Amino acid sequence: MQDIFETPITYLKGVGPKKAEVLKTELGIEVFNDLLHYFPFRYIDKSHIYKVKDVTTDTIYFQLKGKITNLIPVGQKRMKYITATFSDDTGHIGLVWFKGLRWIKNRFSPEKEYLLFGKPSVFKNHYNFVHPEVEDVVEGEEDEVAGQRLEGVYSSTEKLKNNGLGTRGISKLTRRLLNKVADHIQEILPGYLLQSQQLIGRKQALVNIHFPENPKMIEQATRRLKFDELFFLQLQLITGKQALKEKIKGHLFSKVGKNLNSFYKKYLPFQLTNAQKRVIKEIRIDLGSGKQMNRLLQGDVGSGKTVVALMSALIALDNGFQACLMAPTEILANQHFNSISRLLDGMDIQIALLTGSTKQAKRKIIHENLLSGELNFLVGTHALIEETVTFKNLGFVIIDEQHRFGVEQRARLWKKNVNPPHVLVMTATPIPRTLAMTVYGNLDVSVIDELPPGRKPVKTLLFFESKRLRVIGFIREQIKKGRQIYIVYPLIQESEKMDLKNLMHGFEYIQREFPLPEYQVSVLHGRMKTEDKEYEMKRFVEGITQIMVSTTVIEVGVDVSNASVMIIENAERFGLSQLHQLRGRVGRGAEQSFCILMAGNKISNEGRKRLETMVRTNDGFEIAEADLQLRGPGDIEGTRQSGILDFKIVNLARDNELIVKTRNLAEKILERDPKLQLPDNRLLLTHLEKLRKEKHQWGRIS
Ligand code: ADP
Ligand code: MG
Repeated sequence: MQDIFETPITYLKGVGPKKAEVLKTELGIEVFNDLLHYFPFRYIDKSHIYKVKDVTTDTIYFQLKGKITNLIPVGQKRMKYITATFSDDTGHIGLVWFKGLRWIKNRFSPEKEYLLFGKPSVFKNHYNFVHPEVEDVVEGEEDEVAGQRLEGVYSSTEKLKNNGLGTRGISKLTRRLLNKVADHIQEILPGYLLQSQQLIGRKQALVNIHFPENPKMIEQATRRLKFDELFFLQLQLITGKQALKEKIKGHLFSKVGKNLNSFYKKYLPFQLTNAQKRVIKEIRIDLGSGKQMNRLLQGDVGSGKTVVALMSALIALDNGFQACLMAPTEILANQHFNSISRLLDGMDIQIALLTGSTKQAKRKIIHENLLSGELNFLVGTHALIEETVTFKNLGFVIIDEQHRFGVEQRARLWKKNVNPPHVLVMTATPIPRTLAMTVYGNLDVSVIDELPPGRKPVKTLLFFESKRLRVIGFIREQIKKGRQIYIVYPLIQESEKMDLKNLMHGFEYIQREFPLPEYQVSVLHGRMKTEDKEYEMKRFVEGITQIMVSTTVIEVGVDVSNASVMIIENAERFGLSQLHQLRGRVGRGAEQSFCILMAGNKISNEGRKRLETMVRTNDGFEIAEADLQLRGPGDIEGTRQSGILDFKIVNLARDNELIVKTRNLAEKILERDPKLQLPDNRLLLTHLEKLRKEKHQWGRIS
């Protein structure tokens, strides 16, 4: 039977080839179902027309009726914005547009009356409307939409509007569509869920999301449709994870042998935190299960993820397998190699470093020893995933700073053994819990939620340009005490040249303030040759230079415990997780550490909020949450490539509660009925299978 919802949109009355084309290019709407799921982003109460004199900010949206005059394009060469006056019999109010100017310019005639909707704002002590929606008043209007009290507002584009598909045009089409298909809308949730979750039916929800009977129904329809979106996502993620576990045989690491035991007893230089112990246990259970492990290790900067990964890898070695660790940059790979070598010093374990700059001769030896199995542990950059790198028996893969690698690169590591190795991915900074549940929902997650004891929290201070001399004085003081300083400049791709200039200016300025021979200053940026970078890094690590001026190349991982001051220039230009990551470079030794955020004089509201968040808290999980709230999920690392942003109605930043609820429900249901074979769950299975067949495939995260 042909699925009516898959009917091409041209079969809807009023949609000719032209409209079909713009619907497709502008909104991706091709079939009935797409239009049905193109939801309003808000609603206007059209039951009342207000007067200009009544406009206050108390009520959020207003509907007014009147004339638009005095249209004035503003701007020298190019039009920058347009102002106009809106009047009815009680007064005037200003209008402003910043976008779609060419269209706006010729849109209105001064004699005609228009309906205007919008939220007033205050500018120079007067109310005005920025980007109001304007509609023609149709005399004696009796069309398909009129009479509706609550009207959905659909987002539209200039191109759509030019084709009669402004919010109202879309609404008309949707009404027509619903008249045609509403009776075919089937329930996809079993009755017991509708009941226990107090959800309205799917048909009712889809009708009301477009044409709500009353405000309460908007709420219920929204909740129901969000539920569907999240709940089925969770069912997909969890069953996908299970299917993978069944399909793929994991190497069974049945014993904990001499490597791990002697490391733990003789070489581990500190006591593990409880959180570290717990996570190692979680990993051990996975490794002993005979199933392949795909685990995400979350932990704040400095929480000690590396040693956990290392100890897990030792279990692989104990069972006759090889392990590798892949880091996103050479600096990091180097650092991991050094610290792991140090930790394993004295043990009978062969470890090597492989990066893009490993010399041919050495590379050859590494290749040979990997193949013979003589080499146990390989640390490196993506040089690790090259075709030519072949292991004798790779059993355990650690991926550091996970978001920097694409899905594909990670998949290539899988193929380094007949049966894929166990995979542990580590994040640079925490991800909000709800994001982890969705974006990484097909991985198991371990969390280190405790810092090693004795850490003094980094003190974070915010300074503006005028206080620069004080900051210089402070640096001097700290150097006198034997400390080392990082000064970081932003490096943003689009204006790389400018940024580099800033960095070099900064470097020269610092050299003037801290002259030879008393002081030594290092500089580090991405354009430098690897040898030069290493040379500078080494001088800093060894304490020969007191100040390191750099771009964010030092962002991840770098570990110099004597460095106790992190100064971040133009801090407002960094994202929150980046700031947190940078701050994590200090506070590693016993001394009190400082993070100084230098802000430019012109900072946006959001920029200020970011900096204030940094001053307020050191907790990476809290910062990740704030980041999600401030920027929305689109900018959080790792979300873009996962396709998770294709939500129709869910807002990852807002719908926390429902995310957790649907996750738990899905888990519970699948625990009782893993294959959804019970009669009660038949509807779930049917819909799940339909989703699986759909073009949109969920990429495997690792
Ligand atoms: P991250 O989680 O940011 O990768 P690291 O693994 O680099 O953190 O650890 C940060 C520092 O803390 C390292 O110098 C490491 O040796 C140290 N460390 C890790 N675990 C402990 C512990 N349990 N007690 C004391 N120091 C620890
Ligand atoms: Mg690390």
